Amino acid sequence: MEIINGKELAQNIRTDLKSEVEKLKRKGINPKLAVIMVGDDKASKVYVKNKSKACEEIGIEYEEFLLNSDTTMDKLLELIYKLNADNKIHGILLQSPLPKHLDINMAFKEIATQKDVDGFNPINVGKLSLNQDCFVSCTPYGIIRMLEAYNIPMEGAHAVIIGRSNIVGKPLIQCLLNKNATVTICHSKTRNIEQTTKMADILVAAVGKPNFVSADMVKDGAVVIDVGINRMEDGKLVGDVNFEDVSKKASYITPVPGGVGPMTVAMLMHNVVKAAKDLNNIE
Ligand code: NAP
Repeated sequence: MEIINGKELAQNIRTDLKSEVEKLKRKGINPKLAVIMVGDDKASKVYVKNKSKACEEIGIEYEEFLLNSDTTMDKLLELIYKLNADNKIHGILLQSPLPKHLDINMAFKEIATQKDVDGFNPINVGKLSLNQDCFVSCTPYGIIRMLEAYNIPMEGAHAVIIGRSNIVGKPLIQCLLNKNATVTICHSKTRNIEQTTKMADILVAAVGKPNFVSADMVKDGAVVIDVGINRMEDGKLVGDVNFEDVSKKASYITPVPGGVGPMTVAMLMHNVVKAAKDLNNIE
């Protein structure tokens, strides 16, 4: 069994991006990310801090826009339109979750397609399903880059995803399909889930339930990707996979922390650099 070192891989990607950003700066282009946060969700604050640290390391400019939790949809859209029109800003990220009275899908729809570095605008979602050049949402993209880096064949492999969220499961279907995998997706209404998961050559867990995937749900030699981030009462972070048991059966497995998480942030950085290049017609 080999542990997929997402932390190290993400570091290598950030190092490459740093030199790309230096090149862009020599051409007078300063890649910049704007992050919108509404309210003060504790987990979101941690994620946003990680993103700002990564920007700083790579040399990407970063600006945070904090709105009160009672902000109206009109105010949020006003800010999005302002950032869409600002030539100094290349990427716009709207941190989820939003307070319940705000319509996140409407907000994603209004973020300029060319600045939608999270890949949640319906145009980018549609382009991904057509296998066209677009912003791919960061977690699925990070998973594909990890599989590629470890030379794990996707073509012809049976990939089973547990979880069908708009940010992980659904875009990952398209990413894996674009790599010629045979894809099955499971969710809370799936019957006899272990019968399906046991068929997986590549098993991805994005459920949000600690230790959901047990060893008896996994085929011998499967590649297991754990997207879950669950904070336990003692403050420890655990994934959706029972790492200790499943690692004895898997051929490759991602740890939590240090697996998918750092790759998600690295892919966000990649997307900001792509946005800066695309907006300036640089190959
Ligand atoms: P989500 O929106 O809550 O979706 C969870 C999915 O799991 C849903 O599709 C749900 O099915 C399914 N599910 C729940 N219980 C199930 C069960 N008993 N059997 C089968 N499927 C079940 O979650 P998410 O946003 O995708 O996030 C999932 C996890 O990944 C969370 O721990 C989150 O923190 C983590 N995450 C990590 C990263 C990263 O960078 N590492 C990024 C994003 C998310 P239904 O659709 O039927 O309800």
